[in-house]
Amino acid sequence: MPELLLLLLPVAWYFGYRVGLRALNEKRASGQSPTLRNYFVGLNYLLNEQPDKAIDTFVEMLTVDSETVETHLALGNLFRRRGETDRAIRIHQNLIARPSLAADHRKLALLELGQDYLSAGWFDRAESIFQELLSDPKHKLTSSRQLLTIYQQMGDWPQAIQVAEQLQAATGQSQIEMIAHFHCEMAEAALAANNLKSAQQSLKKAMSLNGQFVRGSLLSAELAFASGDYRETLKAYRRLKPEDIPYLAEAVGRIDACFDQLKDPKAKIEFLRECVEQGAGVTVLLALAEAVRTQDGDKAAGLLIMEQLRRRPSLRGLYRLVELFIANSDNKTRDYLEMLGDIMSTLIAKRPIYRCSSCGFAGKTLYWHCPSCKSWGTHKPIQGLEGE
Ligand SMILES: [Zn+2]
Repeated sequence: MPELLLLLLPVAWYFGYRVGLRALNEKRASGQSPTLRNYFVGLNYLLNEQPDKAIDTFVEMLTVDSETVETHLALGNLFRRRGETDRAIRIHQNLIARPSLAADHRKLALLELGQDYLSAGWFDRAESIFQELLSDPKHKLTSSRQLLTIYQQMGDWPQAIQVAEQLQAATGQSQIEMIAHFHCEMAEAALAANNLKSAQQSLKKAMSLNGQFVRGSLLSAELAFASGDYRETLKAYRRLKPEDIPYLAEAVGRIDACFDQLKDPKAKIEFLRECVEQGAGVTVLLALAEAVRTQDGDKAAGLLIMEQLRRRPSLRGLYRLVELFIANSDNKTRDYLEMLGDIMSTLIAKRPIYRCSSCGFAGKTLYWHCPSCKSWGTHKPIQGLEGE
């Protein structure tokens, strides 16, 4: 609250200045000054630490004319940035309602109002404002960018694609990667609705924009799996670029299911071993160890993990090794190992698996659209001892 008071002092000073001029004119005209009285009411609220009432009194007093429009806009902007969107909306609506407002100022106020609505989560209202401003060359780019944000938030991918293509044409900046993600979003939605044909069409568009696209490759495997083509699913995973192999952590369940369907556990071991050789992370290594354990027992699985840990140390690999030792040790040793296992399990539970290369947001889930910085395709598997 003291911060708000400090912030309001220059505002009160400015109002005092404006009010002084106005009060002088009113006094000359009628001998009385309601403006001056209201100013003192507002000042009184401010001094009594009632800034909300003070703000409303000041704003009501400030008549809209060509000189004060900028002040209204600045105040509205300030309120929005402070999270007071209701107040920002009131100020901008008040501005727009004035018939005397110049066309340029009206559009500026509309632009601000659209941003207020966006901050308040009223996407349909914000959308109609930015659509209206799209025809004005001065506001076209800003409106396009805001519309792009709105359509992404709403998950309206066809509209998002259209606006991103327009933005690309207007600025010359490539939006291809983002557009490819939008097509993938459509493909995933169609897949979830079991509309394989539509999913295939969207995926084809994504891949035509970005042929070596990790999300597209993983999705083409998902589609092949949904069609019951297990060999094609595995081929799609093999087509990943070497630097994208760590993303196979996402595919372990599918790989498992494919070989279960093909009833070929030996081929599964061979497939997973190749993936590990090519740089797949600890999730794939643990799947391989499990397949080896099923076929050749705990000792063979333990030896495999130990061999890999020497090459690429990993907390999760070590934990699995401890689990295998626990299962094969006597009572006394088991107690010690269980204590060690508990500590490691706590450590692992706190460690993220993916991190955004743009903003650093980290978690255990892979997001193609970063929930923090809203970038597309920036979440990467964390490599090294504590990661994948
Ligand atoms: Zn991010």
